[in-house]
Amino acid sequence: MATIFTAWQGVLTRMAKAAQAAGRSPESVHLLAVGKTFPAESIRELHGCGQRAFGENYVQELTTKARELADLPGLAWHFIGPLQSNKTRHVAEIAAWVHTVDRLKIAERLAAQRPESLPPLNVCIQVNVSGEASKSGVEPKAASALAHAMAALPRLRLRGLMCIPEPTGDDERLRAQFATLAALKQQLEREGLVLDTLSMGMSADLDLAIREGATIVRVGTALFGARTYNSNQDQGIPG
Ligand SMILES: *Cc1c(COP(=O)(O)O)cnc(C)c1O
Repeated sequence: MATIFTAWQGVLTRMAKAAQAAGRSPESVHLLAVGKTFPAESIRELHGCGQRAFGENYVQELTTKARELADLPGLAWHFIGPLQSNKTRHVAEIAAWVHTVDRLKIAERLAAQRPESLPPLNVCIQVNVSGEASKSGVEPKAASALAHAMAALPRLRLRGLMCIPEPTGDDERLRAQFATLAALKQQLEREGLVLDTLSMGMSADLDLAIREGATIVRVGTALFGARTYNSNQDQGIPG
């Protein structure tokens, strides 16, 4: 407990410092704890510290952990992995948020499958800000059409945009990609959409993301430690 509590406090302090350095209020940035590959017990421990928002990348892992942790009050699941259309139902039934919608078909299925008994599903559009061909996410120039179509769907609440920048140690490239996402959100707001979320920044680059306007940072390694993948799981970087 002491270890994960210390790591959690460390991340929150880092976030607050980055917010202050950017002239932003620390309350404007939220921590999403990414538990992929870590056991439900680790999430239970961090929930015991006071963390409430947890991110998962794989539908199977989300489903299993949600069942194992159903007794925890106030826990909100955020789905942050690539989502195939045949897997939307579990996510629509379990998650409070989906960060990775990048086509209308997925949004339509989530809207149709979101149970009436639950509040609307919060959704973000994943944008490919790096231009890498292999990357998930809508192209920046196609984001406006998708956003307006999604904003019209029932049972969903479009909250904002999400990105995973290219893996690079080059801070200036990273900063430019975060700035691209922030500028795109402003453009959509000028077009009349009401958005409050920029989901960007991970363990290595959350400070830079907060400087560029992140409102949710998605942090795994800095909380739980390094990940090891077993052969049953997708390898490599999702997205
Ligand atoms: C794994 C993952 C994270 C967390 O990454 P860390 O570098 O471990 O903090 C954040 N976002 C997405 C989409 C991820 O897949």
